[in-house]
Amino acid sequence: MEMNFNETEEVRRFVLIVDDEYINRELLGSMLEDDYHVLYAVNGKEALEVIRENASLLSVICLDLMMPEMNGFEVMEVLHQDEVLKHIPVIVLTAEQDAEVKSLKMGAADFIKKPYGAPEIIRARVERIIELSEDRKFIKAAERDELTGLYSQSFFYEYADIMDRYHPDLKTDAVILNIDHFHLVNEIYGRDFGDEVLILIAEEIRKFLAGSEGLACRSEADTFFLYLSHKESYEPLLKSINQEIARKPGNPNIRLRIGIYSRVEHDIDMEKRFSCAKLACNTLRGNFMHYIAYYDITLREKSIFSQRLINDIRDALDNHQFEVHYQPKYNITGDEPVLCSAEALVRWQHPEYGLIKPKVFLPLFEENGLVSLLDHYVWRETAKQIQTWKKTLGTYVPISVNVSRIDLYDVNLADYLLDLLDEYELSPRDIYLELTESAYSNDTNQLIHSVEALRREGFQIEMDDFGAGYSSLNMLASMPVDVLKLDMDFIGHIEDDPKAYRMVKLIMDMAEFIEVPVIAEGVETAGQFDLLKECDCDIIQGYYFSKPIPAKEFEALLLENEFEE
Ligand code: C2E
Ligand code: MG
Ligand code: MG
Repeated sequence: MEMNFNETEEVRRFVLIVDDEYINRELLGSMLEDDYHVLYAVNGKEALEVIRENASLLSVICLDLMMPEMNGFEVMEVLHQDEVLKHIPVIVLTAEQDAEVKSLKMGAADFIKKPYGAPEIIRARVERIIELSEDRKFIKAAERDELTGLYSQSFFYEYADIMDRYHPDLKTDAVILNIDHFHLVNEIYGRDFGDEVLILIAEEIRKFLAGSEGLACRSEADTFFLYLSHKESYEPLLKSINQEIARKPGNPNIRLRIGIYSRVEHDIDMEKRFSCAKLACNTLRGNFMHYIAYYDITLREKSIFSQRLINDIRDALDNHQFEVHYQPKYNITGDEPVLCSAEALVRWQHPEYGLIKPKVFLPLFEENGLVSLLDHYVWRETAKQIQTWKKTLGTYVPISVNVSRIDLYDVNLADYLLDLLDEYELSPRDIYLELTESAYSNDTNQLIHSVEALRREGFQIEMDDFGAGYSSLNMLASMPVDVLKLDMDFIGHIEDDPKAYRMVKLIMDMAEFIEVPVIAEGVETAGQFDLLKECDCDIIQGYYFSKPIPAKEFEALLLENEFEE
């Protein structure tokens, strides 16, 4: 076995000896005391008390059969009916041959005959029974992850518990290590390569654990759990993995995240400890500056806040707490900027927390699919709004709405949208669809299909946040899009960073080459505006013109537009 905590020297398991005769207790006790913590009970009743108090500690019970108050059979009967206690092995101490069959039937694991024979033999039997029972617990589960040779998850949890049990005072850390966008690693470099990376990480983890107490498993595809004696730093682990990855041909770009719950509280259960580590790990999502995060109590509070928002969403939808704001887009290809469209952006007017920005609640809803409910709501509000403007003002512009990745998995998406438009007497030309770029990079084939279906119905597809994260040029070539929305981060730097400007220019040229117009988002200054105009950007959206505003305010812009035309 590969447990790194030493089983023979440091770990002293607990043994209970139950016998009503003093001399028998003393005899057996003296044989075992060097190797075990020995507890004693003088009858069945007392034995059950001791067992219940030390259930998680006891490795074996040596049980006499003939005792006053409550005999050995009765004790076994009680143990047998208890889900937890029945797993503690019982060795029957008996002078009677006949009792063996009956005890076996009641679940005894072994016998030691009275009067006691050679101490070595007795010690060997006790040891064997403990080994057997601990092994048996684990053999039933798939013990190892085939790919990496680390433990499987269920096995890992049990072993981690055992580690706690035998080192109750050891300060320990629960650690989760995860590969960012592992599916992309598989997609870009191939599955075999993905497997190699996992094996490599497992190997570095093993090296890191060597020499200290601890164990590791692979949980899901690309997630590793470590439970180990407290470490001041996990940089060395990260570093050694990164170094090994860098040696791979082609210097693949792979990002790791490590979430740590340091010096765990031992009175919360193992799985919870890892959910704390996971909370920490999740804070690193999309964070390209930090690779290691620690759990602290504010994370727990945040997680409670998140849970609250998740619980509230249905009520919020029913009670119209979500508001749609509109941010104008201006076409700047002519002499004067012309209002040509707007983006619908959702806000939550929460009765208790006040106005909440989408950045706070959207990621929560994306994780569990609730975002679809919200999107449907926003699409409906938007359609209703366009119809109202059409009827009351006699003028309107097409509005783009955001479409989440999860929406695209809905095979009825196109029909849903068409029905909605029908209901408000609109056409697919009136509502543009913004898909965030990460949606494209996930499960490409299926998404290309649904996007193509939407385009066939006449919807205009805008690729949102282009250039952020994991875009690739060849992806763009195969992607059905009508418009590129340049990620805001580029724009923010074009005035002072020549590289950012060149980058934007490059994307513009490329977009021109594939004949797709470009929208620049997040334009805040006149300087940025001028530069973008210079490199032939088509449409601009940003605070330079306007923040997202309520429908009423947007109306004024529409009327102005009408007047100017
Ligand atoms: P996005 O689709 O890229 O929307 C643009 C975001 O940039 C908006 O943030 C907008 O307020 C902000 N922005 C616009 N111009 C500027 C500027 O000049 N400077 C700066 N600093 N920011 C600017 P918002 O409204 O907080 O929305 C954030 C994201 O939430 C959106 O990014 C979009 O991905 C998502 N989102 C918003 N509403 C919805 C929705 O109804 N459904 C879905 N699925 N996602 C939505
Ligand atoms: Mg958008
Ligand atoms: Mg965007």
